[in-house]
Amino acid sequence: METISNLIKNIEFSPYLSILEMVYILASVLFILGLKKLSHPDTARSGNLWAAVGMGLAILFTILFHKTRMEDGSYQGIHNIGWILAALIIGSMVGWFAARRVKMTAMPQMVSLFNGMGGACAALISLMEFPKMQHELALEGASNMLTGESIAILLGLMIGGVSFAGSMIAFGKLDERIGDFKHPVLRFINLVFLFLLFAFVIFIMFKTPVAGENWMIYCLAAMALIYGVTFVMPIGGADMPVVISLLNSFTGVAAAMGGFLYSNQAMLTGGILVGSSGTILTILMCKAMNRSLLNVIIGAFGGSSAAIGQEGDKTVKEISLSDAAVLLNYSQKVLVVPGYGLAVAQAQHLCHELENLLESRGVELKYGIHPVAGRMPGHMNVLLAEADVAYEKLQEMEDANNDMNNIDVVIVVGANDVVNPAAMEDPSSPIYGMPVIEVWKAKNTIVMKRSMAKGYAAIANNLFFMPKTRMLFGDAKATLQQLISEIKNL
Ligand code: NDP
Repeated sequence: METISNLIKNIEFSPYLSILEMVYILASVLFILGLKKLSHPDTARSGNLWAAVGMGLAILFTILFHKTRMEDGSYQGIHNIGWILAALIIGSMVGWFAARRVKMTAMPQMVSLFNGMGGACAALISLMEFPKMQHELALEGASNMLTGESIAILLGLMIGGVSFAGSMIAFGKLDERIGDFKHPVLRFINLVFLFLLFAFVIFIMFKTPVAGENWMIYCLAAMALIYGVTFVMPIGGADMPVVISLLNSFTGVAAAMGGFLYSNQAMLTGGILVGSSGTILTILMCKAMNRSLLNVIIGAFGGSSAAIGQEGDKTVKEISLSDAAVLLNYSQKVLVVPGYGLAVAQAQHLCHELENLLESRGVELKYGIHPVAGRMPGHMNVLLAEADVAYEKLQEMEDANNDMNNIDVVIVVGANDVVNPAAMEDPSSPIYGMPVIEVWKAKNTIVMKRSMAKGYAAIANNLFFMPKTRMLFGDAKATLQQLISEIKNL
């Protein structure tokens, strides 16, 4: 053990410009490059790996090289390395198995759960550091706690606590363990709570530090947790992705506070990157769903779970497999619009097979991707990339809509809300204002789903009754398989 610590000492250049600082810079560079690579499906996997290596290096080198300056001017390394390593190994194993076992359709829940853990870590750091800071300030005889350190601690606790509690509720909702709790009075309660949280942070900062007087930090933690719950509780339906992305950015900001606190560049950069990318994603999601960010923050929106839309005695037209095969085979332009049902059926590989088959017959096939199709941002891109669909084949919603009049056949594979005309036509609909893929403007629309069941926002879809729409009922995977065989027989 002594040889190791001697070795560590020798590698250090100085306590301030140590190898650790350089590793933090390297880790930060790896985070940034990893993030850059994540923006394209072809490079996303390696981007994830680069960022993970950066994080691994930062953790390992912190354990080995971090030094705390003692009162006598000497430096001491980290204690309890055995415990830390044991916790790391257990945590990594749990994460590894959870990530390997999770179904693609349950990915958002897992993202939410892991995000909550990040928030909890940030909050726990603050809970640990506040008593120490207060003790030191009290010894110095300070009259208040107006310091940069206390801002980082208090905001880390507040934002981390909200993120943890909110993410747990989001997890419960996505996993269908918790329902929506909507009441107009919640909008008011949330605003008051948010105000109280900030007011309490300011109150703590102006308080005279008294060693051992920690009630207010526990109070702040409890308030942050309660706000996290009341903030996410009323949100449901079609607005959930925005909330998850927002909570993600909260966790990033809370982690960045830890970075300030410990002057740790890797933590700071990592936190800022998560915070800013989460915020950008939130804004993009808000735009995609036509919601304002303020509405998200006060938790005052969300799709109604009530079934809205009239089905009355309207009837749908069905199409047979052989007719669908003929229609597709003799088309020039086909657009596949995938949705959550594609993920459930795991039909992405068959979509690609259909694409290859039709293209071999001279048909041009593209995919129209709605930004919130599925259950997480980029869900469809990930699934189709997994099936080796070329990225150039994926059309963003706007481009797909611009070209819709020229499309001979649209095949809607397990999508519902993202192709619902109510979003454009029915001001009383909970998804009114959300941009959708206007598949009804194509010459023909085939909808593949198992039944007339509603989608995530629990609203009826008039598309199924429109004159140019025909339904092809059945599990998407089985239906695509049969459709491919029919086309091959032509
Ligand atoms: P929807 O949830 O609206 O609809 C999916 C449809 O797929 C259902 O109507 C279902 O009908 C059908 N389906 C399910 N299983 C199968 C199967 N095995 N084979 C064929 N069809 C199947 O999905 P969309 O993608 O259109 O919309 C996504 C919704 O989720 C939006 O409201 C969005 O806001 C929300 N959301 C999005 C998130 C994101 O980040 N992307 C996150 C959370 C929510 P049937 O049962 O009849 O087969």
